Amino acid sequence: MTEGGVVQADIAVSGEKIVGILAPGDSNQARRVVDIGGLHLLPGLIDMHSHHREPGFTHKEDIITATKCCSAGGVTVTVGMPNVSPSPTSVAILKDIFALYKEKSILDYNMNPAATVLEEIPRLATMGILAFKVFMVVDTGRSYPHMPGIGVHDHGKLLSIFQAVQKTGLPLMVHPHDQALMAQIEHTYWAEGRRDFRAYAEAYAAHDGIIWDMAVAVLLRLQQATGMKLHLLHLQTKRCVEMLRAAKAEGLPVSAEVNPWALWLGNDWKTIERLGPYALSYYVAPHHSEAVWKALLDGTADIIATDHAPHLKEEKEPGWTDGWKAHTGTPSAQHYLSLLLTDVSAGRISLERAVEIVATKPAKLFGLYPRKGAIRAGADADMVVVDLNREHIITNEEVLSKCGWTPYAGRKVRGLPVHTLVRGQFVLENGKVVGQPGYGRLASPV
Ligand SMILES: [Zn+2]
Repeated sequence: MTEGGVVQADIAVSGEKIVGILAPGDSNQARRVVDIGGLHLLPGLIDMHSHHREPGFTHKEDIITATKCCSAGGVTVTVGMPNVSPSPTSVAILKDIFALYKEKSILDYNMNPAATVLEEIPRLATMGILAFKVFMVVDTGRSYPHMPGIGVHDHGKLLSIFQAVQKTGLPLMVHPHDQALMAQIEHTYWAEGRRDFRAYAEAYAAHDGIIWDMAVAVLLRLQQATGMKLHLLHLQTKRCVEMLRAAKAEGLPVSAEVNPWALWLGNDWKTIERLGPYALSYYVAPHHSEAVWKALLDGTADIIATDHAPHLKEEKEPGWTDGWKAHTGTPSAQHYLSLLLTDVSAGRISLERAVEIVATKPAKLFGLYPRKGAIRAGADADMVVVDLNREHIITNEEVLSKCGWTPYAGRKVRGLPVHTLVRGQFVLENGKVVGQPGYGRLASPV
């Protein structure tokens, strides 16, 4: 899959780089030839939003297990989120975290630091990061994954952060949330004695998604006030899609991600009934999911990022009776490419658009293109070989995440990663992870 579409070709790799796209058979003098006849070669996936849990929460996941999942899923660059402990809010902490990745990561990496300490923002921006992150949410009833200290919902503080990040030229990713509205909504549920997973799912989706819509309205207005590059996380309502579309029509530097749970999991109430807390992140009603799908197809939504969020079963189980006690989020890095390719196979999305939203556009939005994100001469040889026709039933046993389960178990997919290469080296070969911890390198803007 080149930027011009699917071609029959040989791809020449020398060292870490793609050095040529040749006519079939032209690479016969190569030192090593890997015949992938009949399969498709795609650019490696770039996942801008993944929870690797290290440092601080390594009982759930760590950099090695997370990057194994990524290798198996066709991901070649994975970017961590700052709800780790200590959270990267300063240069000193981020340096230590980068040292952990350098020692352990199987593939290329980065980390989005929390933009909560204003004076650290300009210094953090010089460390080779791709973006900053802010959570507009602090959890109630539990202290993870949205712990106090990195949540910001005060609009004045947000304005200061937007101004500071704007000066760096980097994008700011924001998890939208309206804390005050959510407090009123959840207290209504609790007053009725309703705390189970159904109440939790309904509360976050209450009034047709008001907590998301109000937050996104605020964020887009702050963007207009400051000119900062805003990247919205967790796109999941029709009104958010409409606001985003209007902002883009004005030519504003705004973008958005969609997460696997909004496309394949939390958008079906039957799945939530069956899996309870194991299906939540959030409930995305069918009319919202449909709007999000449409946005992905027409370019209003820019990318898919996994929001890979492993938690142990012990941390999920309490959610059957008290949704506010369960840690929210689901693992997905290992399987999202297969889920997406299943939709390619069904004709719901073209292979070209699928590749754009998981590889090329993230590279372009976050400064990695043209070194990464496309199969082109001169780019890093980050590639995934997929068998579009291979069918497979996902199982919990195959899960490489430390959490040991996936909400997609039992699902039949069509389209599987066979090999993954990072800078010319196999990290997944014939479906088996062969990458070595310490091979990964910081993926900085070009
Ligand atoms: Zn997340």
